[in-house]
Amino acid sequence: MTGPGGYAAEPGGPAPQPRHAAPSPTGSYRPPPLPAGEPMAMSISRPDPPQPSESARSGRHAAGGPSALRLIWIYPDLLSTYGDRGNLLMLQRRARLRGLAVDPIELNSDQPVPQQGDIYLLGGGEDLPQILAAQRLRADGGLIAVAARGAVIFAVCAGYQLLGTVFGGVQGEEVAGLGVLDLRSGRGERRGVGEVVADVDPALGVDRLTGFENHQGVTTLGSAARPLAQVVLGVGNGDGTEGAYAGHVLGSYLHGPALVRNPGLADLLLTWAVGPLPPLADAAESWTRQLRQERLAATSS
Ligand code: GLN
Repeated sequence: MTGPGGYAAEPGGPAPQPRHAAPSPTGSYRPPPLPAGEPMAMSISRPDPPQPSESARSGRHAAGGPSALRLIWIYPDLLSTYGDRGNLLMLQRRARLRGLAVDPIELNSDQPVPQQGDIYLLGGGEDLPQILAAQRLRADGGLIAVAARGAVIFAVCAGYQLLGTVFGGVQGEEVAGLGVLDLRSGRGERRGVGEVVADVDPALGVDRLTGFENHQGVTTLGSAARPLAQVVLGVGNGDGTEGAYAGHVLGSYLHGPALVRNPGLADLLLTWAVGPLPPLADAAESWTRQLRQERLAATSS
């Protein structure tokens, strides 16, 4: 059977042949070292309407197909706060429920960023781990390279800020980011802490966002990035908008974890990676709906 995305939904098919090396005993992936002279060019993604990736067009993530959907969680040893790990779990679950084979990879900060990923995830973090993560990712160059080829990237809070050109360090000093999103972050007067509700750019077709924020940073978008959403409750970027996207790169201040509380956002990322997806059965959505109702009701009093 072929789904709307052109992939065959055959959960009972033969196990996919992973293109990755076997995971290390800790479950993290150690890819071969990057070739010397890996390009470090900074590039700003343009907010062109996203096109399905090459892998989406070829349908190669079908269960039993030639390779699994590779979800790469960048630096969980430095960037993972307020349940950000849930974003990885949610993408796995929603992909597998569609019959897609998934290969989740946790990449610690002493490892080079693999080039063959389909969706790259970054979480939030305190100021010092955030600065260290930015330095290592700049030195590695791998995430900058995959952004330039159109890989899907979803980044939360500290991870979101470091995708920009610059962000505020511990004393507000400017720290260089990766420059894959056209935005700059500085340090605001007060921390933004608490629940967030925000209405997503209609072009993305995603329901109202619910999440939790805790950050000092304020973010200003350049012309090559679009706001992800308009804030209804909370702080977000600090100017009435929340998050940003350009091409297949999307960042947000929302923890909670964002993709568990906003399954539409999870499906948007999966769609960017593999093409159109069928809706899930009601039974598979009941916990998600309950969580969203509970969180949104808690903010409406
Ligand atoms: N350290 C950053 C800030 O305070 C990001 C915080 C976070 O990731 N929660 O703005």
